[in-house]
Amino acid sequence: MERAEKKAQISQYIDKRIADFKKRDKWKTKITDTSHDDFIKDFNTCLLTNVIRDTFTKRFLKLWSCADCGGPSQERCHGLGEERGIMLRRALERVYPDTTKVITLNEIVYAFLEEHKNSAFTFKCSQCHKNEKQKKSHSDEFVVVRHDVIPTLADKPNVQNTADLGPVQMDAFPVADIAAPTLKEPR
Ligand SMILES: [Zn+2]
Repeated sequence: MERAEKKAQISQYIDKRIADFKKRDKWKTKITDTSHDDFIKDFNTCLLTNVIRDTFTKRFLKLWSCADCGGPSQERCHGLGEERGIMLRRALERVYPDTTKVITLNEIVYAFLEEHKNSAFTFKCSQCHKNEKQKKSHSDEFVVVRHDVIPTLADKPNVQNTADLGPVQMDAFPVADIAAPTLKEPR
């Protein structure tokens, strides 16, 4: 499938899902006096992760082949530099530029989904998705050291070697989520 055609299909699908969400009449919480950074910190990894999962359902994923290798898709992939937190920030800048005003949570959610229409968002198999993440963690721009998430011997006195603790689970701390606050602009 042509890239443009694929994008058009995803856009159409996003519109359909937004219409479905509107029927459910959810996310009516009012937001005000909340900085974009605070909003991203509170909602990016919980609410918006679920929104992505509920929008691009497993059944929908099955209709797409992996963008890299052509195998069956298993993962929803935000492209490099277009991670979920960055998409959320773009949405906030678009629909909630003046944080002293009141906005309803669902307006932000829909704007966030719409941002995916003009991004590199795609579907991949688990292996290609993992390869992309590795590429990302090797690029200087996104490497953020979180000393507090690296297991230490002090946490587990019975472990002789930190290697026994296994690799740091970066999945639990998506790089974009950690990097987002550093992109903050002076206010
Ligand atoms: Zn693949």
